[in-house]
Amino acid sequence: MTITFQDFNLSSDLMKAINRMGFEEATPIQAQTIPLGLSNKDVIGQAQTGTGKTAAFGIPLVEKINPESPNIQAIVIAPTRELAIQVSEELYKIGQDKRAKVLPIYGGQDIGRQIRALKKNPNIIVGTPGRLLDHINRRTIRLNNVNTVVMDEADEMLNMGFIDDIESILSNVPSEHQTLLFSATMPAPIKRIAERFMTEPEHVKVKAKEMTVSNIQQFYLEVQERKKFDTLTRLLDIQSPELAIVFGRTKRRVDELAEALNLRGYAAEGIHGDLTQAKRMVALRKFKEGAIEVLVATDVAARGLDISGVTHVYNFDVPQDPESYVHRIGRTGRAGKTGMAMTFITPREKSMLRAIEQTTKRKMDRMKEPTLDEALEGQQQVTVERLRTTISENNLNFYMTAAAELLEDHDAVTVVAAAIKMATKEPDDTPVRLTDEAPMVSKRYKNQRSSKRRDGQGGGYRGGKGKSNNRSSYDKKRSNDRRSSGSGDRRQKKSY
Ligand code: ADP
Ligand code: MG
Repeated sequence: MTITFQDFNLSSDLMKAINRMGFEEATPIQAQTIPLGLSNKDVIGQAQTGTGKTAAFGIPLVEKINPESPNIQAIVIAPTRELAIQVSEELYKIGQDKRAKVLPIYGGQDIGRQIRALKKNPNIIVGTPGRLLDHINRRTIRLNNVNTVVMDEADEMLNMGFIDDIESILSNVPSEHQTLLFSATMPAPIKRIAERFMTEPEHVKVKAKEMTVSNIQQFYLEVQERKKFDTLTRLLDIQSPELAIVFGRTKRRVDELAEALNLRGYAAEGIHGDLTQAKRMVALRKFKEGAIEVLVATDVAARGLDISGVTHVYNFDVPQDPESYVHRIGRTGRAGKTGMAMTFITPREKSMLRAIEQTTKRKMDRMKEPTLDEALEGQQQVTVERLRTTISENNLNFYMTAAAELLEDHDAVTVVAAAIKMATKEPDDTPVRLTDEAPMVSKRYKNQRSSKRRDGQGGGYRGGKGKSNNRSSYDKKRSNDRRSSGSGDRRQKKSY
């Protein structure tokens, strides 16, 4: 049964905004949670990335705001700055006709500027935990009139060790309030923690089948670690994606991949948590505008971001657990479009492939390692397409004389072949260096893995004993700067 937004009896201001946003049907998670949200129930809403969870909590939240009141009436807590910004943009759109005032608050932005913005009496604050707490302690944010609290990407937030911060924030909210908690995944331990913050929550879970991946073609390629990069660039040449995301395992990996891609002539940029806020936003904007063709990202940096129009996802490193896989490929195939996901599996990572397939309940198709000839063929095809477009634009007068002269000396096929050759980006094998990265293997993979490790051939998981090492770049920094930045791009070992 399709549910339209008329069915929710929303105010005309919201209906106007929703129509302007182009939403027609409610997504399944919206259909099930908006009525609960409107009737002040506590809700745990779980559905895959890209299914419209923001509007699922945003619509009831904005509907209940009184824009005349000078008080903060709702807070949305989000794990990263980008997500805070993105959510506040969506809430702004929903509340535009109602003139609901939305303010994002995150670490890394000038606090003085935030304080000035807070004096303009926003109705809704969207913030990262650390910075929210900072303002609460400075008494520049008062939550004593808040009646709705939202936690977006809740599992990520609780996972990243924000539990104490969240508890402190909530202790400033009147005990009579509604809590809405939305996430793509909700592992049992996280759910138990979450429920501490809630009163008899309704748990709405849009089932895996509906929430996946049906419009995403999923492939895996068996490829040795040292051949991964050539494989990647050949695939890029063959598939010539409009917008591609390449996922790497660590920040260093992301930096190195972005650099190596540029060396081989692709417009690529990397995003991860060590970059300044400004740099990440610039990279994202360029990507959305199409100024760069490949975005390289860590899992956490890309989490929850709505980047539309992604046609291809490349899992250069296999994701650390099946849930991350679902998140990653959820970047593509959004809003009814189809997408393609390619996952590189080294020989020793086979068990991860099976674990992923069990989670998504779908088999991936095997794709053969592409050859150099196929890459050249792909690029040639791109050139031919461009030639066709140029011909159809019919704006060639200036070049006709030179063309006629060439044709006096050579036959037409030779001339055209030369033109194609010149305009074709031939596969580039500029040598690049990537540092070996051992995977961060989560508990979910461990069982399947331990038996493998004993066969002692080295390879795949370089040095299984170096596990503390694998985590280090995420963990070391985290404890120092989590609070001050008010946002984290660092995954913490699960602490429960
Ligand atoms: P999630 O939080 O589940 O990952 P988002 O809230 O970021 O998903 O939504 C993904 C995209 O889908 C956004 O661009 C959003 O505007 C759009 N969207 C949300 N709800 C609808 C709808 N009912 N119809 C069409 N597009 C929608
Ligand atoms: Mg979201």
